[in-house]
Amino acid sequence: MAQVFLGIGSNKGDKLKNIRNAISSLKETQGIELLAISSLYCTSPVGPQGQDWFINGAISLKTGLSPWDLLERLMSIEEGLGRIRDRPWGPRTMDLDILFYGDLVIDQTGLTIPHPHLHKRAFVLVPLMELAPDLLHPVFKKTISQLLEGLRSDERLVYLGSIC
Ligand code: ADP
Ligand code: MG
Repeated sequence: MAQVFLGIGSNKGDKLKNIRNAISSLKETQGIELLAISSLYCTSPVGPQGQDWFINGAISLKTGLSPWDLLERLMSIEEGLGRIRDRPWGPRTMDLDILFYGDLVIDQTGLTIPHPHLHKRAFVLVPLMELAPDLLHPVFKKTISQLLEGLRSDERLVYLGSIC
């Protein structure tokens, strides 16, 4: 069993409902045991502007699924919630990213772990900080709290609270 951290986000449709539905689907997945869900944050979009703000959070879980099987499951949950992959960084009903999978480092086409952008994004680090401030990034050898401390970002985050 590996301990995994996911990023979850939505900026299209009923964002809160999308997030609740995705969490239910994760809970129903055989081979996944949900451990904790961070508070949610309303966050300004990174990348193409002119799109709606996101709701973002982080999730920790235990799984016996391999990283590839987990990614496949996450993509099927995204699709089940109406995710259309039209343009990169564009609006999405659901985005589920594998941030960390134990201390595994993978750099393959279609799967990079730790997630390649997590250290640059306040909308990932702030919720993750609630769940695992001392978690060590296996490539940068810095904890989440050190990564957040070193972050210079103009993202805006509004605390929404917990949904659990
Ligand atoms: P992003 O989340 O970076 O905005 P997308 O959600 O559109 O991008 O995902 C694009 C591709 O990223 C997916 O098809 C998936 O194969 C790939 N990918 C690579 N590494 C990861 C990861 N750690 N978690 C989730 N998707 C990943
Ligand atoms: Mg994604």
